[in-house]
Amino acid sequence: WAKAEGKARWVAYDPDRNAREVARFTLSARMPAAVESEEFYVDYQPIVRLSDGVLTGVEALVRWAHPEFGRLGPDRFIGLAEETGLIVPLGRWVLRQAVDQSRRWHDRYGDRAPMISVNLAARQTEEPDLVADVSTIIGAAGLPPSSIQLELTESAIMGTTGGPLRTLRELADLGIRIAIDDFGTGYSNLAYLRHLPVHAIKLAGSFMEGVGSLHPDAHSDETIVSTLVALSHALGHEVIAEGVEDSSQADRLREIGCDSAQGWLFAKAGPPEDVERLLDEQLFTAAVRQRR
Ligand code: C2E
Ligand code: MG
Ligand code: MG
Ligand code: MG
Repeated sequence: WAKAEGKARWVAYDPDRNAREVARFTLSARMPAAVESEEFYVDYQPIVRLSDGVLTGVEALVRWAHPEFGRLGPDRFIGLAEETGLIVPLGRWVLRQAVDQSRRWHDRYGDRAPMISVNLAARQTEEPDLVADVSTIIGAAGLPPSSIQLELTESAIMGTTGGPLRTLRELADLGIRIAIDDFGTGYSNLAYLRHLPVHAIKLAGSFMEGVGSLHPDAHSDETIVSTLVALSHALGHEVIAEGVEDSSQADRLREIGCDSAQGWLFAKAGPPEDVERLLDEQLFTAAVRQRR
């Protein structure tokens, strides 16, 4: 078919690009069946309170166990799912997994069950049924709404008006926590921030490079982070730092007054059993502390 479009087409032919497009097509064609047949699964990454190191939350991160291509990360298919609209059923599926997991953790750990944070695509806030869906799923599990947090990226949330903004307000009114993901990477209208029904701000991992570092260029990252922490606190929002990879970053974030952190320093995203091992160890630590 390329030939039919004439010579120019042959000149423009780019095998890499072609391969990428075939891969995109193959993935998006399979996705509906994959949602049905549960080829997707959810990993959980711990969120740790910096004042005492307690695991207080986890982020649910979807993965695809593709029969041919193996395990695929969300960067390979979330964009596609947003383009095709499949993010709506996929996102609902992820939420249901997270809620089921939260139910099991509440049964096992009671009040110590970690809050579960679920990513929400902008496309999902345009769904008229979203609030009813979320409320039904959480209600059916008999969970307090505050056990679930919904994360929207800064670019998805900023400039949200009309229906989607009303949707966020309704979700917040139900008692569900709303967080802004990757904060600081998008177009930030700080004045707009105070009109949003937001509980937490997640500081983008890209700022962490200079935090706790002795390199002279690092100072600006720390200035940005401490300013964003102060601003968020002034607006009554909790702050979670993302992409924390070493202990000097965690130490500095604690000094700055950042509430919580998430990153490879603490744990990578993994199956629920990994989180349970950490929670069980903490129970043990608490028991030891009490005995002293
Ligand atoms: P995100 O929501 O910002 O999630 C954090 C990403 O950073 C995850 O990548 C996580 O594995 C990675 N990460 C965690 N700690 C560190 C660290 O210390 N250093 C570095 N360099 N990276 C770290 P992942 O799992 O590949 O997810 C990528 C993105 O895909 C997520 O970014 C989120 O935007 C999206 N995503 C994942 N699951 C879902 C979902 O169920 N629905 C939607 N709409 N988006 C999702
Ligand atoms: Mg996220
Ligand atoms: Mg993020
Ligand atoms: Mg990301």
